[in-house]
Amino acid sequence: MRKKIVAGNWKMNKNLVDTKSLLEELKSKIGDDTTAEIIVAPTFVNLSTASESLQTSKIKVAAQNMHQEDSGAYTGEISADMLKNIDVDTVILGHSERRAYFGETDELLSKKVNAALKHEMSIIFCFGEELQDRRNDNHFTVVENQLKNGLFHVDTSSWKNIVLAYEPVWAIGTGETASPEQAQEMHAFIRKTIAGAFGQDVADNVTILYGGSVKPNNAKEIFSKEDVDGGLIGGASLDSESFSAIAAAI
Ligand code: PEP
Repeated sequence: MRKKIVAGNWKMNKNLVDTKSLLEELKSKIGDDTTAEIIVAPTFVNLSTASESLQTSKIKVAAQNMHQEDSGAYTGEISADMLKNIDVDTVILGHSERRAYFGETDELLSKKVNAALKHEMSIIFCFGEELQDRRNDNHFTVVENQLKNGLFHVDTSSWKNIVLAYEPVWAIGTGETASPEQAQEMHAFIRKTIAGAFGQDVADNVTILYGGSVKPNNAKEIFSKEDVDGGLIGGASLDSESFSAIAAAI
């Protein structure tokens, strides 16, 4: 059976003091009885603190990005080995902000995927169409290509370490959400695409998250859809009240 996941991407928010207090609040608000997997992704500099603070908690820590090489002259970058060394074994790859502002291409992402898998890390792989793609009725093709180019070179056995996050770019941080029906339609398409390439068993077991302006007031309806296995949350993950309410909605 596939996992239910609610993950919070804190982006470039929360200094060390704020990180510590948000983690304390989350630990008290999200009990150990949660059946879903709850993940938070603070900034690189606060990952170590988060990892230590959550050692005895069920909440897991993820990085927001990593470099594709193990080490070397890549100023400002962080490797899989560095993350694993501080007990961070999950990484978000391909977020639309990385693609748009930092020029991350499908080709580069496929290398980052390889590096993460080589180090036995779990990946939350993000992808999704822009508004113009949807207006042009091109959204299925765009999503299919992002999946094929970024991920379809992996072995079938690697899929146990991969979670997908469908995030329509027009819904990220805009307050505009895909309707539950739009989310379900795309998630069903993604699962069918995975089944075609890797078989029904892989498709049935891969967790597919929805991301894009998920809030406490719409989470339950989105999560109730058959092929939506949880969410990747941006803005609403920065507040313990709203993130724990979304976590409870799963
Ligand atoms: C995101 O950045 O992954 C995201 C889903 O952001 P928001 O929830 O703020 O739309």
